[in-house]
Amino acid sequence: MLQEKERVEVIIPIYNEELCVDELLKRLLALKEKINYLKMNFIFVNDGSSDRCPELLRDYANQYNFVKVINFSRNFGHQFAVTAGLDYADADYVVIMDGDLQDPPELIEDLYKKSKQGYDVVYGKRLRRKGESFFKEHSARIFYKVLSMMCDIKIPPDTGDFRLINIDVLKVLKEMRERHRFIRGMVPWVGFKSAELPYRRDGRYAGKTKYPLKKMLAFALDAIFSFSNTPLRITIYFGLLIVGLGMAGALLILYLRFFTPFTIPGISAVIVTIITMAGFQIIMLGVIGEYIGRIFEESKSRPLYVVKDVMNLNPIVTTQAQSAPTRS
Ligand code: UDP
Ligand code: MG
Repeated sequence: MLQEKERVEVIIPIYNEELCVDELLKRLLALKEKINYLKMNFIFVNDGSSDRCPELLRDYANQYNFVKVINFSRNFGHQFAVTAGLDYADADYVVIMDGDLQDPPELIEDLYKKSKQGYDVVYGKRLRRKGESFFKEHSARIFYKVLSMMCDIKIPPDTGDFRLINIDVLKVLKEMRERHRFIRGMVPWVGFKSAELPYRRDGRYAGKTKYPLKKMLAFALDAIFSFSNTPLRITIYFGLLIVGLGMAGALLILYLRFFTPFTIPGISAVIVTIITMAGFQIIMLGVIGEYIGRIFEESKSRPLYVVKDVMNLNPIVTTQAQSAPTRS
């Protein structure tokens, strides 16, 4: 009997990428033809695009039944778009990649082959960040260094979301419903065996980045606060340090007062101390507030994203998309 083809699904978050999707689909179709020993589907997650993307994607889906589309009700963000793709995915292997052709689709075959050597996760490791600004390249490097110092999970440096995961990892990811999502950290958390595939990251094919500085900062903070409680620890250490300094100062004042003819003129020292302490306490409250805010967000347990409609896919019945989705 003919052996069934293995199923690979490619998840592509799309936000206002009308200049990229034609070329993207062209390259994906060529790839599908080339590796016809696999059964390939493409899941485009339209993250509330306001350009021509919805129409373009609709046309593709009408033309090809292996092109699947999830339309969000508004823009929910990259990580949620990927999450929706994962929730709807039903395959032996899932590849996550950007829609701006920075991750070359042709590499999907290499990712698959590498995983066949016995790996559950294959990361695309960036050799060079072509077309990226000096600032972005260096800030990313520093950020990943700080993050790895702060949390126990090892997040492979120089990797983005471009990766292949197998069905075992996919099943666990579907169950991780946290609201502050940093998928690059969630995948290593799941564990299993992983490998890296070095590749040259291309420049963006067309259009502008959808990650302006503000979004990038929020993303970085999300990563730190949802993967680490080091900020809380730091406030404790800092608090101890200040208490230590305060006590040393008090001893010095007492010493000068009783054993020498000098005294410290009081008022300015008092003011400086009060301001420093107040500042420190406000920072500490901010850090605690950041965590409480996250607990508050989580406790509302809203759905992570809202789907307007889907094409070539069956809608998931549960609101939280917690059960394994069915599909056509
Ligand atoms: N994206 C998304 N929703 C957003 C922002 C981005 O789905 O709110 C998609 C975007 O269309 C692209 C991918 O996420 O396919 C990565 O975004 P981008 O290339 O702009 O990020 P960069 O490569 O500049 O970090
Ligand atoms: Mg990009």
